[in-house]
Amino acid sequence: MPYSLLLNSHTMKILAKQLILATATATCLAASAQLSEREQAYLAQKGEIVFVSQPRHAPFEFLHKKQVSGMNVELVQWMAADLGFKARFEVAPLTEAMEMLRKGEADAMTSLFHSSEREAEFEFTQSLKTTPVCLYVRSDRTDIESIYGLEGKRVAIMGSGRALEVLQQHDISTEIKFVPTTEECVELVLSGKSDAMIGNELVTQHHLYDTGEGGLRVVGEPLFTARLCMAVAEGNRDLLSILEKGIASAQKSGTLYKIQAKWLGSEYSRHALPLKTILVYTAIAASAVALALLTILAWNRKLQHTVAERTRQFAESEERLRQIFENSPDAVFVLDPEGHILSANSSACALVKMEKQDLLKKSVYDLVPAPFHGEVTDNMHKWFSGELKQCEGVSMDSAGTVRPIEMTGTLQNLGGRTVLQLHARDIALRKEAEDKIHAARQIAEDAKEMAENASQAKSEFLANMSHEIRTPLNGIVGMAQLLADTPLTSEQQNCVDTVLQSTSGLLNIINHVLDISKIEAGQMDVHPSSIDLRELCDNLYYMFQPLAERTGIQLSFACQESVPPYVVGDEGLIDQILVNLVGNALKFTHHGSVTLNIECPRKTPAGAEIYFQVIDTGIGIAKEKQATVFEKFIQADGSTKRLYGGTGLGLAISKQLVELMGGKIGLISSPGKGSTFYFNLTLPQSDLASIPRETEREKAKTVNRPGIRVMLVEDNQVNQKVAIAILRKAGCEVVAVDNGQDAIQRIRQQPFDVVLMDCQMPVMDGFEATAHIRRMRKPLCDIPIIAITAHAMKDDKQKCIEHGMDDYIAKPVGRQALVDIINKHTA
Ligand code: ADP
Repeated sequence: MPYSLLLNSHTMKILAKQLILATATATCLAASAQLSEREQAYLAQKGEIVFVSQPRHAPFEFLHKKQVSGMNVELVQWMAADLGFKARFEVAPLTEAMEMLRKGEADAMTSLFHSSEREAEFEFTQSLKTTPVCLYVRSDRTDIESIYGLEGKRVAIMGSGRALEVLQQHDISTEIKFVPTTEECVELVLSGKSDAMIGNELVTQHHLYDTGEGGLRVVGEPLFTARLCMAVAEGNRDLLSILEKGIASAQKSGTLYKIQAKWLGSEYSRHALPLKTILVYTAIAASAVALALLTILAWNRKLQHTVAERTRQFAESEERLRQIFENSPDAVFVLDPEGHILSANSSACALVKMEKQDLLKKSVYDLVPAPFHGEVTDNMHKWFSGELKQCEGVSMDSAGTVRPIEMTGTLQNLGGRTVLQLHARDIALRKEAEDKIHAARQIAEDAKEMAENASQAKSEFLANMSHEIRTPLNGIVGMAQLLADTPLTSEQQNCVDTVLQSTSGLLNIINHVLDISKIEAGQMDVHPSSIDLRELCDNLYYMFQPLAERTGIQLSFACQESVPPYVVGDEGLIDQILVNLVGNALKFTHHGSVTLNIECPRKTPAGAEIYFQVIDTGIGIAKEKQATVFEKFIQADGSTKRLYGGTGLGLAISKQLVELMGGKIGLISSPGKGSTFYFNLTLPQSDLASIPRETEREKAKTVNRPGIRVMLVEDNQVNQKVAIAILRKAGCEVVAVDNGQDAIQRIRQQPFDVVLMDCQMPVMDGFEATAHIRRMRKPLCDIPIIAITAHAMKDDKQKCIEHGMDDYIAKPVGRQALVDIINKHTA
């Protein structure tokens, strides 16, 4: 028995179908939709293929505005075009459509779910889509949660007997109602006429959302998977083969996928959103995209506007910067680290007298004279290391003219590289002005020095003058004093007194001139010591009392209780001021009184503020003259000199001395009524009693060691005589020599206790002689040497001490002063 005879008819059908599918696929793989001659003949003979589609089987097929549409319809239309046959579409619900196929009124169904039951009547193409079949209930039903909940319930099933099979497999007995369309199934469930429905998920969902009905929900897992195919009538193998080739061609070309993606979505799944939602979402997404696009467009427009505005602003600011750069009064160069000129403004061109195009070919070294190149290299290094910010230098123009410049530099970033922006300024004029100022300063300094020298010269002149005057005066006073000590007739006594009075006046003038020159030369020093102002007051009283008596002026001197017992100050200077003021008061007072009042209104930590007043009832001073009486050589009125004598220096000296001690001097005066001269000094209080001043009566008139040996070294014969007379009278043995050289010789020959040495002498002066003596052997070298000189300046005393002398006494030497100083050094 041939093997083929063993096969039953069903198996044969399957084999035949496999064969058609394999052939179609193979053909398609070889060449797109190549139809066999038989198939072509079939099509030619048929003229058109009639397809029947269901009106409500979206998304596979449906009627829309009397036009059949849907996934399978579109696929058939593509296949017809691809294979070159004419397709006509009829529309009929499922059962009618199957009937039309059975009766030959239609050649193929565009879609029919495969089931083994239907396989007996229809030939199925390969599966176009597999979709789950699910159990649906009305949304408000909670009693059915799975297929088992269907027991005893009414279930609507669409078309296929496969659902019935599943129910039977699960041994569930239900009241089944078969309906031809999904629409009717849904209607039954929603109306409550059926408790549930079993339907293709894809079609059911599509229907629900297409109609807007949302009252159903899926229950449990899908019951089975249905395969959607096209179908032809049983035995119509030619058409089946043609459809398979068409489907295979659509698969191969990607058309099938595209069509399915179009109708089902590219990633269709059981939980994929329904078309309506997709459309809604798509619309929303499209709107969002459109909105976004519009926003982007608007933003883009705004951005364009902003960019345009910024570009304009940038261009403007760039232009402004360029203008600033170009019109800067400074010469501006932009240099690279090697010194190449990258940019320069018009002032730079003017500075170096070059056209810009020429300047931009140069380096900084071309603009500086060769001797300065080393300095330029150093500076370039410092500019670029940030070490240098400003300096002076020189520039050279194209004509070779060199001028001083001042430069300031800043580092800039130019397109990623560091450059130096150098501002240079011609400072020739400034330098010239500086030179002039310097020269003017020099002249002023020279003038000052000259003035100082002149002042010094004046001081020296005054010192010399006083020396020249003092020397003969010394002789006159000395001799007059000696004469006064001899027995004289009253007439002779009168003459001697007049001589002494006149010399005293002359000495007073010389002392004033000398004081002023000392003060002006800054040589007047303050020598503080402990002072008893009451004693000072008494002494002044004793000093002036005889004169007051003679002139009938009442003298009253008082030191108030408020004044501390001892203060620290320069007694000599205070005494000098008071002598001057009281002297003036007595001089300018013809009747009435002269009062000295010393009081202490305030005591501060700095000291006691002592207030000195000299009050007279004299001629007074006119208001307009009061301010000038403290000036040098000024007298209150032209007749003063004639009537009263004087130099006009006393008050000037007093003022200078008060100020030297940190005080102030002033006056209150009323012409015809009298004057009050006052000054104040702040003097620290002292615990120490001042060394008791010897009164005139107590002073020693002789030396302490009678018979001491004095060598007098003096070239002026008059002065020699005076001094010898005084010294002998004071109890000394005197040897006189005329110069330093004789003094050295005598000192070697015989012993002396003290030497009185003049400074300026012929042959050898006192300084040189002293130096010689100090180099002698002991004890000769230790002999006290007292300088006795007409030089009264501060330097002179210093000079004497520096040259080895022990002390100093100024001419004209008074008897007492001489005795005192000898006693001091021969104790
Ligand atoms: P001198 O007294 O040597 O002229 P002063 O400098 O001491 O110089 O005084 C300056 C002038 O001030 C005097 O010439 C005099 O005109 C005036 N003068 C000073 N003291 C008095 C006084 N007590 N009364 C009036 N006039 C005075």
